[in-house]
Amino acid sequence: MDFSLSEEQIMIQEAAREFAQNELLPGVIERDEAQRFPTEQVKRMGDLGFMGMMVDPEYGGSGLDTVSYALVMEELSKVDASASVVVSVNNSLVCWGLEAYGNEQQKQKYLKRLAMGEIIGAFCLSEPEAGSDATSQKTTALDKGDHYILNGTKNWITNGNSASVYIVMAQTDKDKGHKGINAFLVDKEMPGFEIGPKENKLGIRGSDTHSLNFNDVKVPKENRIGEDGFGFKFAMKTLAGGRIGIAAQALGIAAGAYELSKKYAKERKAFGTEIVNHQAIAFKLADMHTQIEAARFLVYKAAWDKDQGNNYDLSSAMAKLYASQVAMDTTIEAVQIHGGNGFVKDYHVERLMRDAKITQIYEGTSEIQKIVISRSITRD
Ligand SMILES: Cc1cc2nc3c(=O)[nH]c(=O)nc-3n(C[C@H](O)[C@H](O)[C@H](O)COP(=O)(O)OP(=O)(O)OC[C@H]3O[C@@H](n4cnc5c(N)ncnc54)[C@H](O)[C@@H]3O)c2cc1C
Repeated sequence: MDFSLSEEQIMIQEAAREFAQNELLPGVIERDEAQRFPTEQVKRMGDLGFMGMMVDPEYGGSGLDTVSYALVMEELSKVDASASVVVSVNNSLVCWGLEAYGNEQQKQKYLKRLAMGEIIGAFCLSEPEAGSDATSQKTTALDKGDHYILNGTKNWITNGNSASVYIVMAQTDKDKGHKGINAFLVDKEMPGFEIGPKENKLGIRGSDTHSLNFNDVKVPKENRIGEDGFGFKFAMKTLAGGRIGIAAQALGIAAGAYELSKKYAKERKAFGTEIVNHQAIAFKLADMHTQIEAARFLVYKAAWDKDQGNNYDLSSAMAKLYASQVAMDTTIEAVQIHGGNGFVKDYHVERLMRDAKITQIYEGTSEIQKIVISRSITRD
């Protein structure tokens, strides 16, 4: 067993850490407050190869492994989870799905530009009446021979306005249940495609979350991903990998809050000594450190499983379930360690606490992860 990172992985981790400190940290508080999308920062992440990390260089990607991707997600999320979610969706849900299941024409047309960060993608599964129960898709795609006609509403879509291409799941044959769902590549410019208002969120406020409406949108048949009826499987396979990205995001949020808390505890004095010398505070740091390390092992193990070609449904669900809980617990304690300063924006930990919550909700809530885990461990 080898717990060490390769030289290349360490280099990528350092590049991400430097970028986060130098280019994400300045303005992160203002972007959060104004709900401003990190446009310039996303462009820079494209230049650094962070937008298509695991994509083959033949298609404009960086050709790296999933462990490297997790390391980058962790470093970015220590500072700005609004920026890291853009990376996560583009890498895990859009580029990966397209590379794994798209045809050559789709890869040439969309994947290259997505992987290079020239354009951003979005993944559209959730609907007002189909969240955890994603099989209840109400969006329909009627087969009209050489094209489909798409009608319906998606909600909670990350990169909702900033994306140029959207992978949209829709029901093509209601009688077939989830086997009658397909995934389509939809261009922003297609007539009848309408972007709803931006959500005013608790956390990850810099990311743009929108509902989307499809009113008789004509989607060419060549934009369907995979064989007829493959859409639900496509979504589930893609989300299993996505969970590694979100687990790494949660890990980064926790680690960022811990690092700030440790520094603060060594500086802030109360009762004539640095607060780190009060055991109640030191023990909080001990718990944080231990839980973060445990989350880190789960996240890296899930990434490693994917890189080894192992099934990662179980390990990615466990990593997301645990890391997101650690993100919540750690950030709450980080605010406590900062006292009154923890309650104001300048010290960053209140934002990390707000950002942590979403990691227990999107790409499958914690309850859904427990369903995945329990089914997996009791199967035989
Ligand atoms: C900021 C943000 C960004 C998002 N980005 C995207 C995106 O890019 N693309 C996309 O498609 N979706 C996105 N989502 C949607 C997200 O994936 C869903 O919100 C999530 O899957 C939960 O669905 P829901 O909100 O409908 O909750 P519900 O499914 O209504 O769940 C409500 C509660 O019931 C629980 N519950 C439901 N079913 C069960 C069950 N069987 N057993 C036990 N408990 C259960 C849930 O865990 C939850 O606690 C995003 C959401 C947010 C808030």
